[in-house]
Amino acid sequence: MNVVNDMLREVHSQFVADTSGGVADYIPELAAVDPDAFGIVVATADGYVYEVGDTGTEFTIQSVSKPFTYALALADNGEDAVGAKIDVEPSGEPFNEISLDPVTERPRNPMINAGAITSVSLVHGRSHQDKFDRIRDTYSRYAGRELTMNEQVYRSEARTGHRNRAIGHMLRSFDIVDTDPDDVVDLYFRQCSIDVTCRDLGVMAATMANNGVNPITRSRAAAPALVERVLSVMTTCGMYDGAGDWVARVGLPAKSGVGGSILAVLPGQLGIAVYSPRLDQHGNSVRGVLACRELSRRLELHFLHVG
Ligand code: GLN
Repeated sequence: MNVVNDMLREVHSQFVADTSGGVADYIPELAAVDPDAFGIVVATADGYVYEVGDTGTEFTIQSVSKPFTYALALADNGEDAVGAKIDVEPSGEPFNEISLDPVTERPRNPMINAGAITSVSLVHGRSHQDKFDRIRDTYSRYAGRELTMNEQVYRSEARTGHRNRAIGHMLRSFDIVDTDPDDVVDLYFRQCSIDVTCRDLGVMAATMANNGVNPITRSRAAAPALVERVLSVMTTCGMYDGAGDWVARVGLPAKSGVGGSILAVLPGQLGIAVYSPRLDQHGNSVRGVLACRELSRRLELHFLHVG
């Protein structure tokens, strides 16, 4: 469909000159990426992939990993057991806030670090390595190719991640995490350091749009009921403290990461991925937000849109 390709090219050229925001620089490896990289992918639930710009460049998945590990934790433990540990309420706080809900004493949701680290602690496995392999294999099934971890980014995350360690120990002290918090946080650093391309994220989004079945490989990555639960939480919490504006102006479940990517899903229809490393004050990709708004407007993707 050339019309989709033409539209993607238009949206790309509409925002390519926007150089506002700044790349994440809490570790040197993230600051070293090409700040001008810009890729957009639309992948349909029946397996067509449309792409423009830097869609084959690898970058680390970072927080876009959170919904996928949450889905794995749900599959391993069931909704009730996970719900007893992680709430599903928007936090209105920055993603790395060292906080629990004062009433429930649980992380407010699985899209902030406290909730994401708790999700990791709930992933089953015979050993540390086995747990990580299950996480990586799951992401690979969504992407339809074998993903690998970026060693350098992982080592840097692990060397500097004191705030996430503090969150891990806080969770342990409240018995939300009931295993060694340093091991759990190490797995979290590893999952954030998995390399993906914009195309991979587009296919991962399309797998969610297709009820958990990768539309290209036909392999099932998650059960339909879990996908619905994960997309619900992405709708209210995926864009951190920018979530309200996102729902108003884009109207799609989504997840962003400080690596510079955003993934969005229109259930039953398509997935969108944008990669552009400069971030706004919430830690969301500037051109990613703009491109998603524009795609939503042009394609009438807002889930409350009445045709
Ligand atoms: N590794 C980062 C962190 O935990 C990921 C955060 C993000 O992408 N928002 O701080």
